[in-house]
Amino acid sequence: MKCIYCNSETELTSSDIITYAITGAKLTKSFVCKTHNALTNDNYEKKFVGDLDFFRNHLGFSTRDGKPIQYMADISVDGTEMHNVKISTREALYAPKNVVFGFDDDGKKVIMAPMPKIEKISKGQDISTVNISDVTIHKTVSSDSFLGFYAVHSVAKIAYEWYCYVNHIEELIKENSEIVNYILGKSDVCPVDIIIDGNYYTAIDQLSEVGTNAFFQYDDIDGYRYVVFDLWKTISYRVRICKSPDVYSLTQNILFFELYLYHVDGSKSETAFAVYSLDDNKKAAFVTIQPQDMTVELWKVFVSRIEMIMSTMVLSINILKREVDSLHLKLKKYDEEKIDIVQLLGFEENNVVTVIDIITQLFANKDRYDSTKTFNQNLPLMLNLSSDTIGKSLEDKKTFVIYLVGLDKKKELSDYIRKGISMFYEMYENEKRLTKQ
Ligand SMILES: [Zn+2]
Repeated sequence: MKCIYCNSETELTSSDIITYAITGAKLTKSFVCKTHNALTNDNYEKKFVGDLDFFRNHLGFSTRDGKPIQYMADISVDGTEMHNVKISTREALYAPKNVVFGFDDDGKKVIMAPMPKIEKISKGQDISTVNISDVTIHKTVSSDSFLGFYAVHSVAKIAYEWYCYVNHIEELIKENSEIVNYILGKSDVCPVDIIIDGNYYTAIDQLSEVGTNAFFQYDDIDGYRYVVFDLWKTISYRVRICKSPDVYSLTQNILFFELYLYHVDGSKSETAFAVYSLDDNKKAAFVTIQPQDMTVELWKVFVSRIEMIMSTMVLSINILKREVDSLHLKLKKYDEEKIDIVQLLGFEENNVVTVIDIITQLFANKDRYDSTKTFNQNLPLMLNLSSDTIGKSLEDKKTFVIYLVGLDKKKELSDYIRKGISMFYEMYENEKRLTKQ
């Protein structure tokens, strides 16, 4: 084994092919030397990942030591705008152990904290009270986070390492020198395009899920071999790797792809799909543009795809288990009256409310449960879903929260949630039995 960037045989280290920070499914191989591992990480990936913190938090990723990912966003509190506020969970915002700070429209520092704390630190400066039940968080989806220098270089690195990984390439070969030079900053010829083909997105949308990273390789009629990297079902990057070694495939009207999927919950899967050329004049497989040619109109389409992350929760059994465990602990505290309904619901944290919604529906539909089938086979039947993700409108969520508040008043909330938790744990234990066989 040699370094796939320089052919060094010494100091080879394990490279995260898909940066750990953007995937649940680990993919590593020791085919990058220490120098080049540090180079791609320090020069591109740290910044790329940092720009995606808001989305990483919403997809349920955590830091290496298991803490929620902090991100910067703007918030409106009771009519006051605060910019660049560091947030991890809604709870940290509504019931801060420390102060929350940001900047007002004039760039002046604004601090928000419980009154006793503020009085201690304000030293006679202006204080006003705000109603924190009226808080909204907003995030501008910047195209630079997905199309800028750091993003595009990181994407090229991920695509190249994935290509070497699946094709068992364990050294730097001269065919790949163009993309390697780009990644190492020795060339400005950008090998990364953005797929803007509506037909393509219709296809990938049926095969992938929000938060999943999907990859495939193919040869196009221009004589090049490409890797397509679909990030979280938001944007597909097409990365030129080398001249196509397979001339035969260039003459075919049907292109077959083996799609590799890496999911948020750590699982991996593969599936096949094909693209047919309907006319005899051969065209490139996909319509693409260069990142710098992205228009405002086109970007709007990607923004709406990216925003799906905020309204979607990926329904894997492992993700649900994590959320249900945390809810279970909170419910004990709620029963002991150590916390109230607001804290139980994590200040209406999306995931908390969604999980309660799901598990109570599972309990309500327990007649439809088939213990010989897997969790993922049962879910659509029990919840009337057509996919593995659940998206609810803000209106639905509001109605459900009002319903929960009603149960709280009648002292029926604990029992209601507990039945859902038991139902989920029963399904979880059954899943463990099924997958062992
Ligand atoms: Zn190297």
